[in-house]
Amino acid sequence: MAIVCRKCGHKGTRAEFRFLGHVDSAGANTYRRCPKCEAAVVCDEVEIIDDESGKEVWGAGPLRGRVFTRKRKEA
Ligand SMILES: [Zn+2]
Repeated sequence: MAIVCRKCGHKGTRAEFRFLGHVDSAGANTYRRCPKCEAAVVCDEVEIIDDESGKEVWGAGPLRGRVFTRKRKEA
């Protein structure tokens, strides 16, 4: 299951969309950055996690711990 950017429509894998941070501290949703337009895309990790399980170490990317401060857009 691919991630689709809601802003520009770019479609890619989780490896392409860099991990930015969690939407809610206790939630499964995360922000990822579109490689094309650099918009933040909200991803449901639970929904896509079985796609590439084992390929990526959870939360161990270079952006770990960064706080993403952009205001959340209500869809
Ligand atoms: Zn985009």
